[in-house]
Amino acid sequence: MAALHTATPPSQAPPRAQLIHIEVDRRLGHEWDEWNGRPLPGGGDFSAAPGLFFRFAALTLAALAAAAALLLYLIGPRLAALSPPLARGMWIGLGAAAGLATLYLSVLAASFYGRRNLLPERLMERGPYLQLMNYTSLIARAFGKRDWVEHAAIDIYNTLAERRGRRVGKGELLVLIPRCLSKQALDGVLEIAGRYEVPVFVATRGQLARRVIRERRPRAVVAVACERDMMTGLRDVAGKLPVLGLTMQLPNGPCRDAAIDLDQMEKWVQGLVSTS
Ligand code: SF4
Repeated sequence: MAALHTATPPSQAPPRAQLIHIEVDRRLGHEWDEWNGRPLPGGGDFSAAPGLFFRFAALTLAALAAAAALLLYLIGPRLAALSPPLARGMWIGLGAAAGLATLYLSVLAASFYGRRNLLPERLMERGPYLQLMNYTSLIARAFGKRDWVEHAAIDIYNTLAERRGRRVGKGELLVLIPRCLSKQALDGVLEIAGRYEVPVFVATRGQLARRVIRERRPRAVVAVACERDMMTGLRDVAGKLPVLGLTMQLPNGPCRDAAIDLDQMEKWVQGLVSTS
């Protein structure tokens, strides 16, 4: 709680200080800077069908292609004056890139819905997919659908990553949790971690999470965060290290009393450290 006195002009009477109370009951992560203090839609549960991500991803690729085509159209006459084959080559290159991007999205969708990863992880969930997720999130923001699209994107990422069937030793797995879990969720995480003997770290900021990873050198990570924080974390870490990302529900708004699916967490931890 903070108190703030406002100055009163001397000519005005009677001098009466005004006390303004500012309740500081949570520390917002910077991803939530623009939160207006109102309850989050759906009680802070942003679950969404995977199809939502695929639709927005197609829109994102179309928007990127259209932006590149517009640029080429505008600079086309100068390019043609410089070298006609160069201008033609740029258009052909753009067409090829658009075709490749469409093919990539189709393979991604076929992998997800066909229940079989058609590309190695470096070309899929630990490769270009991470970039696609982030560009798609930018487009989704323009439509006010950010959290739902990010949730769907993370679900697809987890499904693809889980299918790789990775196994690591107990000491090689790291569980990273945020500071905003409810007591019930925190107790549940600690209980699971104790049962499977895996270390748990509270990462108050992304920077700290990256430091813990650098110092502990795990071979896999189960991370817990809201959709917004998870997107940043996956973008920074998943290319270097296998990560499974558990998103949360935020019934009391961002950065406080977050709830998680403990059964899902246990399933992932158990799967990663199981020896059979
Ligand atoms: S993970 Fe929790 S503390 Fe971090 S930004 Fe999301 S809601 Fe806030």
